[in-house]
Amino acid sequence: MHFQWYPGHMTKAKRQMQEDIKLIDLVIELVDARIPLSSRNPDIDELGKHKARLILLNKSDLADPKQNEAWSAYFKSKGFFVVKIDARRRNEMKTIQNVILEACSEKIERDRKRGIKNRPVRAMVVGIPNVGKSTFINTFAGKACAKTGNKPGVTKGKQWIRLNKNVELLDTPGILWPKFDDQMVGLRLALIGSIKDEILNIDELSLNLIELLQKYYPGMLRSRYEVDEDQEPVKVLEQTAVRRNCIQKGNEPDYSKAASLVIDEFRSGRIGKITLEFPPVTD
Ligand code: GDP
Repeated sequence: MHFQWYPGHMTKAKRQMQEDIKLIDLVIELVDARIPLSSRNPDIDELGKHKARLILLNKSDLADPKQNEAWSAYFKSKGFFVVKIDARRRNEMKTIQNVILEACSEKIERDRKRGIKNRPVRAMVVGIPNVGKSTFINTFAGKACAKTGNKPGVTKGKQWIRLNKNVELLDTPGILWPKFDDQMVGLRLALIGSIKDEILNIDELSLNLIELLQKYYPGMLRSRYEVDEDQEPVKVLEQTAVRRNCIQKGNEPDYSKAASLVIDEFRSGRIGKITLEFPPVTD
């Protein structure tokens, strides 16, 4: 697989983020709960090294509940605060507000000792494209939140969203680019839809997915498509085509149509709640 990136944009985005990070106390990093490491860019650890850190396992509604717990424990063991969420829903928003205050307790305490009262903690949202940053900001900030304008001492044009008297959020998220250290990372990003489908081979991608599901979620393809799982991925795809009426001229199975269907049903969670990578064993 080959991916085209635009270094100019990346450099600019990184420089912007370096500037923005100076203004905040806490980095709220969204990752995709189905591929929590592959959907991170580890550069953020350097960029945000003196800041409080909160990781949101987003799209947790699509991921394996057992693995959501395992990943939460993993990131907590690395010193992050962690909350699993579905950015489209408001349920965890109260929890997040509380965790933000907990994560920034040292700063709040420092302010208090200096006699500074009610200075809100400031946060910014970061993550790779399509991870749910805008959705999260909309849900979290809601319509009721007042936007504060340019304040003295704040970079011109920066908008802060006041969540409550304790927390302010930078209204534009920081965009990180995914990092393709290895082919598996690229494959996982492609599977969750982070790479334009036009530049992917969907047939091949679906065979990779089938192989991963056979290995990590045995029984899932059988129960969704009534196929015999214990055969080559291409045979599983062929049976899926037949079961789902993906047939082309000459009564032949339409592999491409079946491939798109399997990928779509995976991405929308219809095959099941699936996580595609697992926390490294920590010592
Ligand atoms: P951004 O590029 O990081 O700002 O991502 P967006 O906020 O535009 O979200 C990308 C897509 O993911 C949209 O179609 C959202 O509706 C969807 N999305 C965001 N968060 C969630 C979530 O927690 N669960 C699910 N199922 N979909 C989500």
